[in-house]
Amino acid sequence: MSENTAPATADIIVKGCEVVTLDKDNTVINDGAIAVSDGRIVWLGTSDEAAGISAGSVIDGRGRIAMPGLVDAHFHTGQQLLRGKLQQIARKRPLKQPVWKNYLIPFESCLEPEDVYLSGLVAYTNMIQVGTTCFAEAGGPHPDEMGRAAMDTGIRGFISLSTVDQSETIGADVPQNMLMTHDEALERNVALVKRWMDNDRVKAWLSLRQVIVCSPELVRDVIVAANDLDVKLHTHLCEGTYEIDYTNEKFGMRPTEWLYSLGLLSHHLHCAHSVLLSPREVDLYQEHRVSACHCGFNNYSIGHPRLIEMWRRGIDIGLGTDGPGAGGTLDIFQVAHVARVGQQAINSSAYHQREPISSEELLRIATIGGARALGVLDSIGTLEIGKKADFLLCDTSRMDHAPLYDPLFVAASIIVGRDVETVVIDGKIVMKDREMVSIDTAAIKAKLNERLPVISERFEALVA
Ligand SMILES: [Zn+2]
Repeated sequence: MSENTAPATADIIVKGCEVVTLDKDNTVINDGAIAVSDGRIVWLGTSDEAAGISAGSVIDGRGRIAMPGLVDAHFHTGQQLLRGKLQQIARKRPLKQPVWKNYLIPFESCLEPEDVYLSGLVAYTNMIQVGTTCFAEAGGPHPDEMGRAAMDTGIRGFISLSTVDQSETIGADVPQNMLMTHDEALERNVALVKRWMDNDRVKAWLSLRQVIVCSPELVRDVIVAANDLDVKLHTHLCEGTYEIDYTNEKFGMRPTEWLYSLGLLSHHLHCAHSVLLSPREVDLYQEHRVSACHCGFNNYSIGHPRLIEMWRRGIDIGLGTDGPGAGGTLDIFQVAHVARVGQQAINSSAYHQREPISSEELLRIATIGGARALGVLDSIGTLEIGKKADFLLCDTSRMDHAPLYDPLFVAASIIVGRDVETVVIDGKIVMKDREMVSIDTAAIKAKLNERLPVISERFEALVA
């Protein structure tokens, strides 16, 4: 099995697990072993072949599946502490639309830098506990604090700044502290990217919240900056009917067509949702390698997302949670399961589509798709020699997992985030047997108890 001979030593060796590599052949190594050194996978083989390797840490993988860590390709760190709050408000009075402009941005405006750090600690710990090893932040307040929390929890990620320079259009006014001038927005975005450029595990992207809250000049200049810096730019595109109406009325074109007319489409654009796409817009995504993110828990309330069509056409698309303000859970396994059912409903019933949409295909989108959409497939997304060691060990010992004929099927269809026991990111064990190694969770909980009432009170006063 092994492509090279087993090394004499390694930093970490995992033995006895079913290794689901998700390589191009979907190789599964029964009773397999993974050797890690200097943050990378240096060898893969069977436990027998690994017998002679001596390692600093030896992990017993028996009764477990090893698989690549999942990627959350669209996340909002600043909304972590909003989980369940809107549902609570909605029980008393109807919510105003669009929710993101009336509640989500106002909530973020209530956060001090320390609160964003706390949100990051909670969010990234939550992610690690459900098997997510890499995330892309959509853009929120105080992004350096997100970066600090990502460094401390041990997760891999891309942070970014909430970027808004026009408040009119629809819904509530954007709170003053979330609003910037054109120059300030451009400067702060570029400076953020430069501050994190030399960090290997946590980097920064540029961001535009959505075209309806960013002036055409800012849209142009931030995208040009992304091209100059050779870095991705995170935005929400073709997410709402109001947004399609906005560009149609203002520019006579749909959002993607408008960006195309300005010569701004490229692989530097990462566009969450991308649901309300015309056939022409899907073509533009493919031709210009625009990447996308399918958020399974809310995309189906927007329209008919064409995830499988886009994936099979080779468009760079991954899965995302859109943060806990949207679907509640940060479990990408669950997002994949929901997305499969949604895609079956849309594709299969529409024209008796016989080609199956399998859970294995969705698992590949959640790992390889996410890594490719974030521009990092050469270093993460599969278990292969030379890649960064970002992987999970998932429990398969319960009746819920049996029988284990096919580990790939179990990984894709049965396992959910709470089955994840041990997580390795960048060659470091960040969670072992469900206990966080990188961070003190009791201290995070204590801080939460102190800050949550303050943040909550501020928010309620703002949206009353
Ligand atoms: Zn979002």
